[in-house]
Amino acid sequence: MFGTLGGPRLLLRRLREVMAEPVSPQARLDKIVVHIAANMVAEVCSVYVLRADDRLELYATEGLNREAVHLTTLRTGEGLVGLIAKTAEPLALADAQLHPAFVYLPETGEEIYSSFLGVPILRGGNTLGVLVVQNKARRTYPEEEIEALETTAMLLAEMIASGELQSLAPPGRDIALRRPLALKGTPVADGVGLGHVVLHEPRIVVKQLVAEDIKSEMERLDTAIGAMRKSLDLLIERGKLGPGEHRDVLETFRRIAHDRGWLRRLHEAVATGLTAEAAVERVQNVARAKLQRRTEPFLREWLHDFDELANRLLHQLTGQSFVGAHKDLPYNSVIVARAMGPAALLDYDRAKIRGLVLEESGALSHVAIVARALGIAAVGDVANIVDLVEPGDAVIVDGISGDVHLRPPPDVEHSYAEKARLRARKQEQYHKLRDVPAVTKDGVAIDLLMNAGMLVDLQHVAETGAVSVGLFRTEIQFMLASRMPRMSEQEALYRTALDLANGKEITFRTLDIGSDKVLPYMAKVEEENPALGWRAIRLGLDRPGLLRSQLRALLRAGSGREMRIMFPMIATLGEFETAKSVVENERALLRRHGRAPPSSLKLGVMIEVPSMLWQLDETCRCADFISVGSNDLVQYLYAADRDNKRVATRFDALSAPVLNAMRLIADKAREYATPLTLCGEIGGKPLEAMVLLALGYRGLSMSAASIGPVKAMVLATNLSEAEDVVANILKEATGGQSLRDKLRKFAKTQGIPV
Ligand code: PEP
Ligand code: MG
Repeated sequence: MFGTLGGPRLLLRRLREVMAEPVSPQARLDKIVVHIAANMVAEVCSVYVLRADDRLELYATEGLNREAVHLTTLRTGEGLVGLIAKTAEPLALADAQLHPAFVYLPETGEEIYSSFLGVPILRGGNTLGVLVVQNKARRTYPEEEIEALETTAMLLAEMIASGELQSLAPPGRDIALRRPLALKGTPVADGVGLGHVVLHEPRIVVKQLVAEDIKSEMERLDTAIGAMRKSLDLLIERGKLGPGEHRDVLETFRRIAHDRGWLRRLHEAVATGLTAEAAVERVQNVARAKLQRRTEPFLREWLHDFDELANRLLHQLTGQSFVGAHKDLPYNSVIVARAMGPAALLDYDRAKIRGLVLEESGALSHVAIVARALGIAAVGDVANIVDLVEPGDAVIVDGISGDVHLRPPPDVEHSYAEKARLRARKQEQYHKLRDVPAVTKDGVAIDLLMNAGMLVDLQHVAETGAVSVGLFRTEIQFMLASRMPRMSEQEALYRTALDLANGKEITFRTLDIGSDKVLPYMAKVEEENPALGWRAIRLGLDRPGLLRSQLRALLRAGSGREMRIMFPMIATLGEFETAKSVVENERALLRRHGRAPPSSLKLGVMIEVPSMLWQLDETCRCADFISVGSNDLVQYLYAADRDNKRVATRFDALSAPVLNAMRLIADKAREYATPLTLCGEIGGKPLEAMVLLALGYRGLSMSAASIGPVKAMVLATNLSEAEDVVANILKEATGGQSLRDKLRKFAKTQGIPV
């Protein structure tokens, strides 16, 4: 059938001419349907566009009653057109009226047409509309015609995505591309951000869809595939992988790059008259539309791999660099990415970023650590976000609830703007408290310390008025690096940190890696139970080289200054003593090399393994200080993985088992006059912190953002009253149930902000 009228190539060429004509959008659309109908020898060609209210509106037709244009609508799922929109699959029927989904629309006059071929208009796997041809005679549409119509639909997708058709939509009948979407992900970094979408990896815009010369497009495609395969081979052989590039992932890419089915589909798409890049996009759109509706994890993984590879191929074809430069980042940017390495986020101008939305990374990813340190509201695990956005779209990121509002309606935007204003006002109030000493109503001074791990954190020491850094997580430098940091690099970081702290103490914690904290460049040790496995000090003592070089770096950086070092995951006092002897050796070595040791050196034990609860006397005697790692201690007391939502929320830290353990530690520290702090998350939550004060804690270390709210709590608390009430509640407690409601009630009646 195509043969007689020139086939899809001629059609594409005609349509390209129509696209370039200076006519109104409606006139252009009207011409397009005429050309398609003529080329496909169909009596009817119609374009339906999906509206924001989920209805498909007839936007243009050749052959059906013209009066029906902009009047006829169908719901998604209704009729054959609605079915195509819903399934995102083409539908070819010799006798349309026999199909169970067929609905009769009298205003269109379509009853005289027997055969029906419809294809979805897709962009990024999302349906934007439906393109239909119909014939009076009963006929079976061959595969090439279905493919040709799909290719033609790409042109319409571009037209819709460019916003050209929006002018045809009266208010309230917006087309779907601009429809508001409320999406849900997992909270990654606290805060609320309003701004406009910036794609981390700018989408390649395929400007030329129609090929000038098929043969040369085939050659371009083959050359690009060859080059891409070669670059994958090189990456794998050299083993020099960039952030987010893992060997097994690259191996998968290489397999796909040789996948016959994929290559055949690409070649077929070029054969219909598309340019090589348009062919890549078309094949990918179809794959996405098919797989996005599937929920099996392996299929989603597979789709992602295909997406990545298609992207690489597009970059190869267009010569655009793989990661976009963001020199001209606009103000109020919300960065949207599938996944991102931590270093990439640091490359952005922080002052211009309002938020971050990630498709794959969750709260435990390395980029999450950076987002939190930079105070960027962030949400992770948002399915398909990259395909759903258009650069410049308005977006709201709620890093507290995990909500993302794309193109928010005015009422949502207003309420979030209000929320953001309230937060800013609160922040301002906390800021005013910066120089107010943290003293309870009855005159007890409390030390509010800060947790840190990156140099950017240290600017908050001054901003928040924290008295010192109670926990410096040294592993973060290791986690963010693409290879093991050298001793000199570690030393430089510690020295700069001490300089930035400007005389305030920093308690450095030695490497706490293993379990969830994995280093991309270190061989992963397969363990059945990593949280109970080879991590933190256990690894440090078994790999003395690693621990020694870190301690050397710390002692050198602390030359002539006060130095505090503590060890994570100590389970027996013997481990602490061994670690201490390594420090002593290093200190002696430093002297022998004629370097000044730290002016004072304090060594501490983290209490985060329950076995330490029965070694407190000896520990308090031989450690210079102790610090409770309540995140781990609570996880081990309840045998509930701190990162597993299914179990982590079953137990409450505000319960007798945990609080009695906390009290025991505080009592022993007081008995031996051993300085005590707590540096887990509960220290930064006002209600939990109030209870800890009542149990005897006088030093709490927390994230920078928590210092204001906790200080407000301290200032409003009468500690001796709180001590009595907490002691009574604990005495009466039975079982391990949560005491939260009772404790909160007390705080409320006392007017303590928790
Ligand atoms: C803790 O376990 O409470 C702690 C502060 O250490 P991390 O969260 O780094 O394990
Ligand atoms: Mg810990």
